[in-house]
Formats: sequence, C-alpha cells, structure tokens
Amino acid sequence: MSGVASSEVIVQEEISTKGDFGVSNVTEEVKEQLLNVGVRMAAAGLVMGTWGNLSARLPGENLFVITPSGISYDVLVKTDLVVVDITGRVIEGDRKPSTELTLHAAIYSACAQAGAIVHSHSIYASALAVAGKTLPPILEEQVQLVDGAVPVARYAQAGTVDLAAAAVSALGQGKAVLLANHGVVGLGSTVGEAYQVCLVVEKAAQVYILAELIGQAAVIQPGDVAAIRKSYQTSYGQRV
Ligand SMILES: [Zn+2]
Repeated sequence: MSGVASSEVIVQEEISTKGDFGVSNVTEEVKEQLLNVGVRMAAAGLVMGTWGNLSARLPGENLFVITPSGISYDVLVKTDLVVVDITGRVIEGDRKPSTELTLHAAIYSACAQAGAIVHSHSIYASALAVAGKTLPPILEEQVQLVDGAVPVARYAQAGTVDLAAAAVSALGQGKAVLLANHGVVGLGSTVGEAYQVCLVVEKAAQVYILAELIGQAAVIQPGDVAAIRKSYQTSYGQRV
C-alpha cells in the first residue's frame, strides 16, 4: 500500500514541477522582454529618467507584469517587476507597481486584443497631446501598425482612475492614444510591438508637425487607409 501511495506522490510532484516550470518560464521570458524594451525606450529618448511605464499580459492567465514606480530602466532587474491581476492587485513582487497601474489594468480589461502596453512621454507626440490635436493618418507605416488616426484623450491627472477612464474611452479598439498634456499609450500583441507602435506614433507626430510648419499635411484618405491595412495584414513580410 505504501509503495502505491509513494508512487502517486511522485507522479503528483512531477506534474506539479512541470506545471510550475512551464508557467515560470513564460513569466521569465515576459519579464526579460519588458526589461529589454524599457532600456531601448529610454535609450531612444521616448522617456526621460523613470517616467513612462510598460506591461505585458501573462499568456493564459488573468495577470500582467508591470514595471515598478520610480526605478530607472538602466538598473531594473527582473525582481523589480511586479505581477498583478487584472484588477491591479499585487500577486508577486516586493516593489510598488507603476503609478499608472490603473491605466494599464483598465486597458487590459477593455481591450482583449492588448497583449502589452507601452506608455511613453516622447516629445512630438506630447506636443500634439498638449495642443489637443489628433494625429491623422499621414504615413504608411503609421497606418500599417496603428490602423490610422491617433486620438487625444480628454485631460485627467496622471495616475488617476479618471485618466484610465479617459484613455479607454478615446482608445476604443484602437492601438494608440495620446494623453492630453502628458504622453502616449501604445498597444501590441507583444511588448516589442507595443513599443513599435509608440515609435511610429512619435515619428508620425514629428513629421506631421514639420509638414504643418512648411505647408499643410496631406492626410491618407480612408480608402487608401483600408487598402494599406489589408495589404499589411495579409501580405507584408515573409508570408507565402
Ligand atoms: Zn506618464
């Protein structure tokens, strides 16, 4: 009897170990991506100091990993990252999560397609956000990656539930939103893609402002926006 019992225990332990190993591997990989993109975002000048924040869902879980509050990207390590549930409750980690935790949680709740969120304070996108101007579809890569126009959410103070509500409302099912007098939020299926969205929004914002300075920016028309989107989704890259 005792032999049967111990073999059952061994089987249980093997299942448990495999399960834990699988979950923690994915979590470690997501954390690695967040650290990597955080360093790149700071090096690219999309944020200064400890501003901005990023997060990514843990696949198959109702959880996401987010950067901590007030620690520079160049010194961040995996144990500084915080795992929270979709309501923003801390599940793992000793650090205080980003002050924009509510913003991230609200977007994940509203946007099932969002696998990751990057929030930057880049200069030209912030200039549009200060002017309260929507970024129209003006560049092909913007249309390909961001779908089209990037709206400006109404003003609300950073770190508040009101800002989260304003951002979700303006974002809709889009992939990027400008936060009035504040910065940018980009969504992606991965943290790398969300970062690309922020980069493309920043470039398009810069080009839009420059074009308006020397003349008038020509906006890509809706028919062309739809065609570019379709082409990007079906035939861009190495698809066969
Ligand atoms: Zn911010």
